[in-house]
Amino acid sequence: MTHPTVPELDIAAPASDLPIGNHEIVKNSTLICVPLMAATVDQMVIDMVKAKDVGADLVEVRLDCLETFSPRQDLQTLIRDCPLPTLFTYRPKWEGGQYDGDEDRRLDALRLAMELGADYIDVELQVAHEFNNSIHGKKPENFKVIVSSHNYQNTPSVEDLGNLVARIQEAGADIVKIATTASDISDVTRIFQITVHSQVPIIGLVMDERGLMSRILCPKFGGYLTFGTLESGIVSAPGQPTIKDLMNLYNFRQLGPDTKVFGIIGKPVSHSKSPILYNEAFKSVGFNGVYLHLLVDDIANFLHTYSSTDFSGFSCTIPHKEAALKCCDEVDSVAKSIGAVNCIIRRQSDGKLFGYNTDYFGAISAIEDGLRGSHNNSSTINSPLAGKLFVVIGAGGAGKALAYGAKEKGARVVIANRTYDRARELADTIGGDALSISELNNFHPEDGMVLANTTSIGMQPKVEETPISKHALRSYTLVFDAVYTPKMTRLLREAKDSGATIVSGLEMFIRQAYEQFERFTGLPAPKELFREIMAKYT
Ligand code: NAP
Repeated sequence: MTHPTVPELDIAAPASDLPIGNHEIVKNSTLICVPLMAATVDQMVIDMVKAKDVGADLVEVRLDCLETFSPRQDLQTLIRDCPLPTLFTYRPKWEGGQYDGDEDRRLDALRLAMELGADYIDVELQVAHEFNNSIHGKKPENFKVIVSSHNYQNTPSVEDLGNLVARIQEAGADIVKIATTASDISDVTRIFQITVHSQVPIIGLVMDERGLMSRILCPKFGGYLTFGTLESGIVSAPGQPTIKDLMNLYNFRQLGPDTKVFGIIGKPVSHSKSPILYNEAFKSVGFNGVYLHLLVDDIANFLHTYSSTDFSGFSCTIPHKEAALKCCDEVDSVAKSIGAVNCIIRRQSDGKLFGYNTDYFGAISAIEDGLRGSHNNSSTINSPLAGKLFVVIGAGGAGKALAYGAKEKGARVVIANRTYDRARELADTIGGDALSISELNNFHPEDGMVLANTTSIGMQPKVEETPISKHALRSYTLVFDAVYTPKMTRLLREAKDSGATIVSGLEMFIRQAYEQFERFTGLPAPKELFREIMAKYT
């Protein structure tokens, strides 16, 4: 099976530096369009003003969402009162919209919108020929017809998409719009290829969470516009981000053909705070990169599909850390021993993939500082872990990192896991002991032990769960929880009540992120900023 790759970007559509406001320089000419789906004209007008306030370039008025519609009067109001350019769409049910009335009335309303001063209208490919013939010679200057095709099942092959673009052009489109559906994130590459090679202005978007990348990276590939909603979840098509996220989280105006792409590979992944952290940090140091949520089913296929050096680095989370190791051309010795990779760097000179484990450093340094009674990350020659009995709950990616790290620092390690065989296997590999998780509550061979939870027990939404009884925590001098949503888990609360020093998973997260940032950018991590961001968002 061959996998299409994203073309190198020197052939991307031209992007210019366009000044906006007093200070910001826009690095691309891709527009942000806010879809308006209110049930009344009055609410649409309120939303138009909101869209302008948050920085939209135009609005899409979804006429099919209006509960009552008097074409002439309502179109006049909507056009007159809109502080932004307008795109009118009157989507029929047969193309995924809400209108199921008479076709002539629908197309008449769109023609009227054009006559009354709309900047764009959207017509579906199926009726575009007839519609464009009917307005031939009557189109106002600067008015543009978007001819759209929506596929709610899948994303066709590049060849089929190319044929579709040709048909849309033949139907008289000024702007081509293709929206497909992603069943796998690798489907998005086909839309990128079509967009980057298009001779006509094109809107190429892939719906659903697996298609999110298509909506954010369109400036990189020369897309004409993307949609950003006013409110999270109030979407006109599945997978649309908010305009606030486009502008503030993904730094959309600064993206261009040279922007390097990074992201967190996981499943699920939408909960991850990593994009907030890295994008803010990229911005603060002036690094031309964007960091995305990447909902990936098959990591090998993903890395193979997006093999351009522009897809420069990835963090890996559940359930891909172990599979990630097998996908790398080279893996550093720590990650190899742990058996899990959580950071992949693509070497720019030859595209080779290098795997690292930054969880190890993040967790162990945070625990060492907790034992030393400081958070200054200072290192002394002897680790305070040396000689300690270190109990790790969990034997997955994070469990391996903690167990390996503690052993390296001279601790005696015990692994407790739900699946005892995995605990046994890890204990044998690193030279430690194994328990089943049910034995934990009665395990107190000595005082002053260190406990590290590396399971997802206690993570949102099941915040009342804990892996060990409060009573058993009395034997521990320090308790660490890898879970960081919430920051204060039940385990940490009860450990604190029992007198133990507690170290949050957030500390591990921040520290492992420093290292990933430095590997991604080659620049020192803005450490204070990382802490400020995580304090704000957790
Ligand atoms: P993983 O490789 O999938 O391993 C999960 C581990 O948790 C396995 O040992 C599994 O036991 C155990 N487990 C899962 N659900 C359980 C349950 N209901 N009861 C008992 N044991 C259960 O995942 P991972 O990558 O190691 O991540 C584990 C946790 O660490 C997650 O909460 C993750 O968010 C957190 N983490 C935090 C950071 C950070 O920076 N703070 C970094 C990495 C991970 P079995 O072997 O029996 O399946």
